[in-house]
Amino acid sequence: MFGGIEAGGTKWICALADSHGTLVETTTFPTSGPEATLACAIAFFQERGPVDALGVVAFGPVDLRRESATYGHITSTPKPGWRDTDVLSPLARALRVPIAFDTDVNGAALGEWCAVAKNRPSTLAYVTVGTGVGAGVVVGGVPLHGLLHPEFGHVRIPHSHVRDPFAGSCPFHGDCLEGLASGVALEARWGASPVEIHEPRAWDLEAEYLALGLMNLICVLSPQQIVLGGGVSKHAGLLEATQQRLWSLASGYFQAAELLTASGVAAYVTAPRLGDYSGVSGAIELARGVAG
Ligand code: ZN
Repeated sequence: MFGGIEAGGTKWICALADSHGTLVETTTFPTSGPEATLACAIAFFQERGPVDALGVVAFGPVDLRRESATYGHITSTPKPGWRDTDVLSPLARALRVPIAFDTDVNGAALGEWCAVAKNRPSTLAYVTVGTGVGAGVVVGGVPLHGLLHPEFGHVRIPHSHVRDPFAGSCPFHGDCLEGLASGVALEARWGASPVEIHEPRAWDLEAEYLALGLMNLICVLSPQQIVLGGGVSKHAGLLEATQQRLWSLASGYFQAAELLTASGVAAYVTAPRLGDYSGVSGAIELARGVAG
């Protein structure tokens, strides 16, 4: 058996999977303080286990540098109570199995990549728009790291202060993509949680910002598939509006069917195949990779 954890800023998902990676049991609980949340996860695996290996994918930023003293920590998050939290050590001490660690979005990208049955792309990007904005990338079946890990939510995009006087919600950059388009930004700008916002102009603006962000992603990484996940992305019509705007922004420049026609873009930027289980499915794949 393999274990997987998607440690999200709003909720944690724990899963058990068989030797083929098929999920056999999952549980979801809200994210509270670090100690209580980790205790819930440990209890799940101690009661249902043992597992041969564990994959953990977490909201970030996280330290993925194995040689670092803070490997496996969530670092400079603005989430109250979670800054500089060691996620890995308590799990390792309690469960005593090999553990793989990555970002939640790299996990989701890997889960979605594995879920493609035919003609698997060599490069797939998973973009989440929820409490925050981020992207994970899989290249040839391997999650992309680098100096730290991609921080797509913090790219800069054009921001008209006339159309949108909101200064942005990112505590580090103000009006970066996350500062303009995350769930936190929507709530701060419109005074209501994203599920309670019904004004068309709010969602027109959101689609505009997401399309501008996706243009940056396409220009830099040239992914063959983009998956748009996260709670905010579930708003009815937002995916289609973002696809339309992206097609218009692409302006016939990219000589690929995926970006030259509206129907191409609709097949290129898609909702997650695995729904809310992309991240934890990727965590299971990572566990399979580190099992002895
Ligand atoms: Zn930022």
